[in-house]
Amino acid sequence: MDCLFCKIVEGSIPSQKVFENERILVFRDIQPAAPVHVLIIPKKHIASMNEVQEEDLPLIAEMHQVAQQVAKDLGVNESGYRLINNCGPDSGQAVHHIHYHLLGGAKLGALTGISDSHA
Ligand code: AMP
Ligand code: ZN
Repeated sequence: MDCLFCKIVEGSIPSQKVFENERILVFRDIQPAAPVHVLIIPKKHIASMNEVQEEDLPLIAEMHQVAQQVAKDLGVNESGYRLINNCGPDSGQAVHHIHYHLLGGAKLGALTGISDSHA
């Protein structure tokens, strides 16, 4: 399958891994938007939040558990962090393999709605 994150999972594209188990991989974003910026993905290919099936719900729950653990490991659990999922064109989702961005390590800007680039 021609999916960037599936290639990262299989190892044909390198990544800076920060956590891995049988079901989930966490690696550093190549264009960090904050001092801590990692991507939490399932190893299973799910294109976006819209494609999550009932059978996937334990996996999605585990991604949150992993987020909690990784935030602690990277030292931002107490200073705070943000978990973001982009889904679909208006969100700017660029990679069609579901992922959460975990951002922290600095005071983050307010969440915006309509941006100039989207307006
Ligand atoms: P999104 O816009 O939510 O689909 O986010 C995709 C993210 O993947 C962006 O923040 C990119 O910087 C990141 N990204 C793209 N290619 C790579 C890569 N090879 N390794 C790590 N992160 C990547
Ligand atoms: Zn994929």
